[in-house]
Amino acid sequence: MDEEELRIALKNSPVSEIRAFTSIGSTNDEALAWADDSAPDFSLVIADQQTKGRGRFDRKWITCPEASLAFSVIFRPTSAELVTPTSLYAPLCGLAVWQALNQSLHLHPLIKWPNDILLDRKKCCGILVEAAWSGTSCKGIVLGIGINITADSLPPESSPRFPATWIEKYTSAPVDRFALLAQVLINLKFWREQMGQPLFFDTWQDHLAFRGEAVRIVENENSSIIGIEEGIDSSGNLIIRNDTGEKILIEVGDVHLRPETS
Ligand code: ATP
Repeated sequence: MDEEELRIALKNSPVSEIRAFTSIGSTNDEALAWADDSAPDFSLVIADQQTKGRGRFDRKWITCPEASLAFSVIFRPTSAELVTPTSLYAPLCGLAVWQALNQSLHLHPLIKWPNDILLDRKKCCGILVEAAWSGTSCKGIVLGIGINITADSLPPESSPRFPATWIEKYTSAPVDRFALLAQVLINLKFWREQMGQPLFFDTWQDHLAFRGEAVRIVENENSSIIGIEEGIDSSGNLIIRNDTGEKILIEVGDVHLRPETS
């Protein structure tokens, strides 16, 4: 990774300190350790390659050299942010990435509840939010974001759990990874200030994937809920209307959303 080029690209971004790696286990692991130590607010960990990239519940997230953008941002929560539900940090990242892809590349991604960005109904970005704790108090929030830029970034599995895609498939020119990163960071600052506000929820809901469609919430092999996706509530729960007209709130947890047609 060209660190000089990175620092120039991030000159006008809100980032404080940067740790850049050619290869690392997981940017979130490095960021959690740094958050436990001295990382200032809005520190950035970035790597060209992750050898142990993680998704939710320790599922693998694949990051390929030169093909992906993988980074983690550390927030030191203010006292006001400490009372914000932690479930809103994943959509905060979702909004920042959605807006960056739209502003910088004129793409129209959608946000799949709770934590992925889709282009053409396929996953081009994964988000993993974790917290660094000191006893019962939260010392830091780590926002991990992985974006597939070129075709080489796709996970090798023949049948990923959810169809995957990459950004350059939808752009007419190669994507400048660091310029995209700078825009995501600027947007993170903007949406951080809007967390929990009507603009936050309205924009999230307006760009929610599968809204108005039949979806399946998969809890495990034997249990799933099918209904029409109506939107989200002010805690970030997904609202589903089942075929008896009952409104069901789905909390963020080990559940997976799929369009019912897939
Ligand atoms: P799901 O994708 O099933 O809805 P999830 O939201 O929990 O579940 P994540 O934690 O966001 O998934 O990401 C982990 C999953 O993403 C892995 O199970 C893997 O199938 C898939 N995956 C891994 N690397 C990539 C990648 N570079 N691009 C797209 N998908 C990937």
